[in-house]
Amino acid sequence: MPTPWAWRWRRWRAGRRGGESASTLVALSQLGLSRTAELRHQLGLDDESTEGLLIALTDARRLAAAEARIDSWKAQGLQIELLDAEAARRLEPGLNADAPLSGTLALAHGGAGNARLFTQQLRLKAQRLGASFRFHTTVRAVSADGAGLMLRHEHTPPLEAPTRAQGAEREAGDTLPQPVGPMDERFDAVVLCNGLDASALLGQRLPLAAQHETSVTAPLRLLEAHPDLGPKAAWVDPALGLTITRTGQRVRVTGGLAVSRVRAKVATDFEALHRGLQHWFPGSVLHSQVQHGQSRRAVAADGLPVLGTSDRAGLWLSLSPGGNGWGLACGAASVLAQQIAGATPALDISALGPQRLT
Ligand SMILES: Cc1cc2nc3c(=O)[nH]c(=O)nc-3n(C[C@H](O)[C@H](O)[C@H](O)COP(=O)(O)OP(=O)(O)OC[C@H]3O[C@@H](n4cnc5c(N)ncnc54)[C@H](O)[C@@H]3O)c2cc1C
Repeated sequence: MPTPWAWRWRRWRAGRRGGESASTLVALSQLGLSRTAELRHQLGLDDESTEGLLIALTDARRLAAAEARIDSWKAQGLQIELLDAEAARRLEPGLNADAPLSGTLALAHGGAGNARLFTQQLRLKAQRLGASFRFHTTVRAVSADGAGLMLRHEHTPPLEAPTRAQGAEREAGDTLPQPVGPMDERFDAVVLCNGLDASALLGQRLPLAAQHETSVTAPLRLLEAHPDLGPKAAWVDPALGLTITRTGQRVRVTGGLAVSRVRAKVATDFEALHRGLQHWFPGSVLHSQVQHGQSRRAVAADGLPVLGTSDRAGLWLSLSPGGNGWGLACGAASVLAQQIAGATPALDISALGPQRLT
């Protein structure tokens, strides 16, 4: 895919710096995973989660590279083990016996889940605690005055008729009737999480690119004679550039990663995802109710999130988690909440701040 040259240059330079921020990212991801598990447990959330995340090492060269680096990954704090192909096939009995596999990396506490279900249930719990949400609302400006931050926002309902699901959300009282036109509201602190559009509200250009991803979701084929069809949890193939996950009775393949300028479009190749699924878990899905999806998110040249305080008092940033948004979200939110409340954060995230991009 055509990646902008300026961004490639920044990525190359960021790769040479490496170091401290990479270990902060590992620590944040571990915190994110344990906070997600804690929330699931404490709040009784059921998001069809499955435990287990295996990374395929498809040939001897990839296996040797992983063997050479595993100690340094462990030293960075990653809980990771090398498994041979047989052990991997015991964990994932639906794997194609003919697909070449030299070994796998197994990540402790990794897994898959349904982000939409997780978020919706979390929202209901937050509402019961008094949080309020405004959907279909666009923030037009954030400005500072002596007394705090002023947010100008405007109700911008979608033009198309609401779907049944959206209608149900409205009935639940989530989207209260809003006045027409812009409204000003004052806040002590604001966290900007608006990805690729952050620069406009910040009033300063952030060097972020758009990372595109395609996905295919299909119902699992349920056959009594073949109970092991499909993945049990999450399967990552870095060689084909795709991830195959099981959530409930569905299988999702994501991949086709491409980086472009923020407003550019890239071609999608759903066929490659179908081929990848067929390669690893043949015959595992029904092709009748397949959903094709496409998403775009902000990514920084060093691949790390932009997390921390901006140069305006009270304005915080949680941007560009790349493809790791959910993995990091609960950890990032708890560290930012601690900082905003003036408490000592569970983790020093200063290496992830926006200042590193300038
Ligand atoms: C198919 C798929 C698979 C994924 N797989 C994984 C995975 O395996 N692991 C993982 O950890 N994560 C995964 N993710 C999450 C994903 O990788 C991203 O990290 C995540 O979507 C980033 O979330 P975000 O909220 O930071 O930014 P975004 O998703 O970019 O959301 C930004 C939001 O801000 C809104 N916005 C912009 N400007 C304004 C404004 N002025 N006013 C109001 N709102 C505004 C936009 O409408 C948008 O809704 C997946 C996502 C998808 C779609």
